Amino acid sequence: MLRLAVLGYPVTHSLSPAMHRFALERLGLRGSYEALETPLGALAERLSVVRWGYRGVNLTLPLKEAALSLLDWVSPEAQGIGAVNTVLAVEGRLFGFNTDAPGFLEALKAGGIPLEGPALVLGAGGAGRAVAWALKGAGVEVWVWNRTPGRAEALAEELGLKAVPLERAKVARLLVNATSVGLKDPSATPLPPDLLPEEGAAIDLVYRPLWTRFLREAQARGLVVQTGLPMLAWQGALAFRIWTGLLPDPRGMEEAARQALEEG
Ligand code: NDP
Repeated sequence: MLRLAVLGYPVTHSLSPAMHRFALERLGLRGSYEALETPLGALAERLSVVRWGYRGVNLTLPLKEAALSLLDWVSPEAQGIGAVNTVLAVEGRLFGFNTDAPGFLEALKAGGIPLEGPALVLGAGGAGRAVAWALKGAGVEVWVWNRTPGRAEALAEELGLKAVPLERAKVARLLVNATSVGLKDPSATPLPPDLLPEEGAAIDLVYRPLWTRFLREAQARGLVVQTGLPMLAWQGALAFRIWTGLLPDPRGMEEAARQALEEG
């Protein structure tokens, strides 16, 4: 019996249970995937239960950074990004990974979006760090912008990137919204439309709503666009592979997430 879960706070509306239950069923595995409300202060205690009681868990806000110091081993990738989104439990030992970064790159590849720079990452929070790290590792020139400039500057210095003003968006080839702007607010965008480039691609990590103002305006400008769902599905599929050794179909997981999103 494969016992899996996602930990976060709040986590009730997470799409992960729908995606992973689809994967379990499609692969014919007997198991469960729960959503466990876990405030930051309860993480250590929850992980002590995971240690012996679960095959693994996903971590989401606000736990991804705090988990680093509570695990027995953390992958170099997760160390570099400073965040863990996947935990594997083996004989009472906890191993931490980050599948957001490779998930982002796999989603680009699956969507036929070329890895062309300069790429401008909007946001230097957890998601922005993972995306910047992934793009830099893939050899792309990465620029980063953040509302609080000090955070962008710190990230740029740490990863050897450039912190830039928002106006540089006009000459970027790949734009990634890794801020939470647009989340649950269809009228908000991190980038005024007059700063969109003439060509290239735009990806929004926000998937609630699926079609954000940022993506709609980028599409109207003629850019190739991708919603946050392919990355969500890929990071989930890669986590599932860490737990089971089997890679589920990310397209099917994406469809399961889309259905759960539509059902609210
Ligand atoms: P964090 O809380 O770590 O970071 C939030 C980021 O948004 C910061 O850069 C913050 O800037 C910025 N921000 C917040 N409000 C504003 C605003 N009004 N104007 C400009 N910038 C703002 O969150 P995460 O990095 O974990 O997540 C960011 C988004 O990415 C979320 O919507 C999340 O759902 C999504 N996500 C999607 C994934 C996927 O698979 N599709 C995976 C992971 C995340 P500042 O530093 O100035 O506060």
